[in-house]
Amino acid sequence: MILGGRVLGRGARRELGMGAGSAMGVGRGRHVGVFNVPMSGHVIPTLAVVRELVERGYRVSYAVTEEFAEQVRAVGARPVVYEAPPSGEAPEDMAVGVTQAVVLNVAALSQLEEAFAGDRPEVVLYDVYAWAGPLLAARWGVPVVQLAPTHLAYEGVVQEFFGLGDIAEIPGFPELAGALEKFGLPGGVHALTLAPPKVIAFFPRSFQRRVQTVQAGDAHWVGPAISDRSFQGRWQRPSDGRPVVYVSLGSQFNRRPEFYRACVDALEGLGRHVVMSVGAEVAAAGLGPLPEGFEVHASVPQLDVLAAASVFVTHGGMGSAMEAFSLGVPVVVVPQMAEQRVNAARIVELGLGVHLPREEATGQALREAVVKVAADAKIAGAVGRMRKQIEAAGGAVAAADVVEKVLADTPMVRGTH
Ligand code: UDP
Repeated sequence: MILGGRVLGRGARRELGMGAGSAMGVGRGRHVGVFNVPMSGHVIPTLAVVRELVERGYRVSYAVTEEFAEQVRAVGARPVVYEAPPSGEAPEDMAVGVTQAVVLNVAALSQLEEAFAGDRPEVVLYDVYAWAGPLLAARWGVPVVQLAPTHLAYEGVVQEFFGLGDIAEIPGFPELAGALEKFGLPGGVHALTLAPPKVIAFFPRSFQRRVQTVQAGDAHWVGPAISDRSFQGRWQRPSDGRPVVYVSLGSQFNRRPEFYRACVDALEGLGRHVVMSVGAEVAAAGLGPLPEGFEVHASVPQLDVLAAASVFVTHGGMGSAMEAFSLGVPVVVVPQMAEQRVNAARIVELGLGVHLPREEATGQALREAVVKVAADAKIAGAVGRMRKQIEAAGGAVAAADVVEKVLADTPMVRGTH
């Protein structure tokens, strides 16, 4: 929850009589299952929703790998841990990424069926790539809500994201379709991924690519769901008062030392304080000697840094972009793969920052872009409008309302919770 530039914690929200404070306890222990893939960009957007549901009295079980168990616990859910095949660096080709996700779900399915046996959820919330969720929900006969950290499928999405004519061409999807039929899910892969009956999207409707062509049944663009993330640790801005520039390529496509060196060239001597989140591998190898006023980390509590930043040099992942705009920070976008290029195009269309294709992201181009974005009143105005749209979209409170309504319409079934 964001108000006046601050992310409000639970206590502050209760004092203000907002959201969960007024709805405490209505869940009365009803059981919500969340199914996700082990990627920060997919898990983090859901955490504030889990916290909100827990505060309303729901019991939340969260299926994810060990790597994310602590984060899930931090927001009050019970982690239901599955083992996943090692995947290494995320592939830039999204079709390859989806194929990996199919393998992961197939591996998780029997583990999760067993783990939930005797304690089934009454509603299943599932990430766009966590098909084990709707598969098991079909077996259990419980309703589902898709959680979308990225654009809902629109006309042309398969071409723009995957470079293909039809999602059935993605290697692994025929097998997934087979599994869906076996589990009795009508409509198969197309219905599940391109036109889910009910979906919560973690960005405002105004950011959706080709919104008029979205086929999802009941779509709720609630914007980013943000709440306290102190479980990530804290970051304090230095007291020298220099404007802060934040650089990050997110959690997946961050093994790019040459890009970070270009950022050092770009930002040295500009009178800025520069915070760089470079991922574990690059941080371990180091970037060589750094000028005064630069700090490099494997990862940072991003909301803390953004709250102090005047410009964000980002890969344009949806989570990062939305967190920036919700804190009023304009961006220089250097996308690393197709989905981020779609976001970059939206950012330019909406006037929220500058797009630098990565092959053009030299030190000089980055420097010019950062200086321009920091000083551009039109961009500041557009970011201010987006920030208001994000606030109006409702975030975690609106998302929990959707889930609550689904549960209210679903009779309690004895012996399954
Ligand atoms: N993140 C963070 N600290 C970091 C880098 C990233 O907390 O040092 C978080 C960030 O706040 C965002 C998520 O990781 O919520 C990354 O998601 P995004 O959609 O931006 O990109 P992806 O990592 O999926 O490419």
